[in-house]
Amino acid sequence: MTTTANDNLNDWLRDAHAMEQQAEKMLTAQAERLEHYPALRARIVQHIEETRGQQRLLDECLTRRGISNSIVKDLGGKLMAFGQAVGGMTTSDEVVKGAMAGYVFENLEIASYTSLIAAAQAVGDTATQAACEQIIVQEKAMAAWLLEHLPEVTQAFLARAEQPGVTAKV
Ligand code: MG
Ligand code: FE
Repeated sequence: MTTTANDNLNDWLRDAHAMEQQAEKMLTAQAERLEHYPALRARIVQHIEETRGQQRLLDECLTRRGISNSIVKDLGGKLMAFGQAVGGMTTSDEVVKGAMAGYVFENLEIASYTSLIAAAQAVGDTATQAACEQIIVQEKAMAAWLLEHLPEVTQAFLARAEQPGVTAKV
């Protein structure tokens, strides 16, 4: 028995759906903990909304391709270890490590959708291709924002860390 390109695309769409569930958990955990970095927190909250929209787009792709949602739900948590490492971080420099890990995660998403776009193209699923092209724009924007703001997050953390009695880490 061979695995067809359509089977592989179905698997990768399920993986992407699990990845977006993990993204939502991770971003929500970060937003709940952040207190002293309002710009970072606001951008994360915006991306939580975008992530929910991405889940809906992937749901539509899976439904259109005849993949049931119950199968999708069973596969959540595939990237659990990664998400826990990010969302559950309690190091003294949590905000800096969290912003770095967020950037890494966005790039994992960019790579996933780049591959999905190529796979959708290969099987001629133009609707899935269009959905992934729509999603990847948001992932690239989030990655770019995090990288651009990492210096100021780092400097704000360093300044707060030097003040006695001030919490710097989140
Ligand atoms: Mg995403
Ligand atoms: Fe993302």
